[in-house]
Amino acid sequence: MAKKKFYITTAIDYPNARPHLGHALEKVQADAIARFQRLQGKDVFFQTGTDEHGTKIWRAAEAAKKPVEEFLDEQVAVFKELCKKLNISYDYFIRTTDQKIHYPGVIKLWNELVKSGDIFKQTYTGLYCIGCEAFKTEKELVNGKCPDHPTRQIEEVEEENYFFKLSKYKEQIISKIKSDEFRVSPDVRKHEILAFLENAKDISFSRPKTSLPWGIPVPGDDRQVMYVWCDALSNYITGIGYGRDEENFEKLWPADVHVIGKDILRFHAAFWPAMLLSAKIKLPKELFVHGWILSKGAKMGKSTGNVLDPFAQIEKYGVDPFRFYILGAMNIDGDGEYSEELLKERINTVLVSNLSNFCYRSMSFVNKNYDSEITGIDEDKVIGEVEAKFPEIKKAYEEYDFKKAIDIIMEVSALGNAYFQKKEPWKNPAESADVLGTCMNIIKNLAILCEPMMPEFSEKLKKQLKIKKLSWDELGFDLKKHRIGTAEILFMKIK
Ligand SMILES: [Zn+2]
Repeated sequence: MAKKKFYITTAIDYPNARPHLGHALEKVQADAIARFQRLQGKDVFFQTGTDEHGTKIWRAAEAAKKPVEEFLDEQVAVFKELCKKLNISYDYFIRTTDQKIHYPGVIKLWNELVKSGDIFKQTYTGLYCIGCEAFKTEKELVNGKCPDHPTRQIEEVEEENYFFKLSKYKEQIISKIKSDEFRVSPDVRKHEILAFLENAKDISFSRPKTSLPWGIPVPGDDRQVMYVWCDALSNYITGIGYGRDEENFEKLWPADVHVIGKDILRFHAAFWPAMLLSAKIKLPKELFVHGWILSKGAKMGKSTGNVLDPFAQIEKYGVDPFRFYILGAMNIDGDGEYSEELLKERINTVLVSNLSNFCYRSMSFVNKNYDSEITGIDEDKVIGEVEAKFPEIKKAYEEYDFKKAIDIIMEVSALGNAYFQKKEPWKNPAESADVLGTCMNIIKNLAILCEPMMPEFSEKLKKQLKIKKLSWDELGFDLKKHRIGTAEILFMKIK
């Protein structure tokens, strides 16, 4: 039987500055989902990329005194390097300046919206924040300034734009979100977007070339450039072939999940589905909306100044402890705090004292006392206790509740530790071989359970256990006769 497909995306990043921890969080979350689905035997396609048009990019290139293409190539290389350092298993990296891959689908999509009668021209006057590249309402401003860009001037802009009839689709979208046909999770975001949709207005969909010099021209009107909605949101379909390779597009669409941050909820849960409905394309199945990584309670981002460099953090603590920390740092419907103090504490108390300690002490015991060989298992009640956790962990992964998944996985390791301690195999090694057999099976299970979060750790563990690639179906206590490799310490205490 053909494998079931699973298409997952991150939002595409705006590479006008270096990536920050927020970018790292989203990529790691999406990667954990992609890896989990591969473990389930799915045929996963994982797309990430960069959103490369707009005034901010244009100005950043000018400020750097570089041709915009050269500036972008350098910036994008940094985002790709971050993916590499984070061990992100993406299949395709889309760039919205790619005229061969991206443009044909964008133009097709625009033309479909025109065909549906949903694009119209209108004069627009509004308050515009260059920082956000978006029009703002009076209500959104604080003391006349954009709250995200308090150092920038708000400009009053009047211009003739093409508009898109978002309002025409709001009822349809509301009903699809309410029924979970188009699922928005967690619930707090679902309620938020339903409230927004009630009053959704038509949206500006293009800008005059004079005010937006860097973008995709509107088909049939060279004086106008597509605004970010049609240019960037479309990446989710153009990357898999819309307008270019319809067969592949049909195979992968609809997306199983778009992973995004809560600040771009409206674009993805209102604008994007409306565009798809207008173009008669199916809606994605789900939108998973994560919170923010905060530093001392404030949003971390390039405009707020409190930026910790993800490259430096990975270098300092290692990729798996970093992934482990940020995945476990937030409740599914909240924000998370990033601090090096908290991270060190989590590494020392959880990864070192619990997980690494259990794996090392029991594997090195097998090396030393049984010439690395196990010959059977002890049918203790710990087996049932561990197995009872598997469906809970699966459910947590399926619901994108990474904190919960981590917590339960660490309970599995704690059960192993407590079992080893209770059985005291060091008192009578000759009679304890089966106890260690049970421990090796718990470790094998940990290698599978941890893979989505900490792929490098999982690889090392499998190598030490001398077991090959494992899928989720292979969870269980089936290692009866087996020779393991040499135990090595997996995580070191951080001072
Ligand atoms: Zn702003």
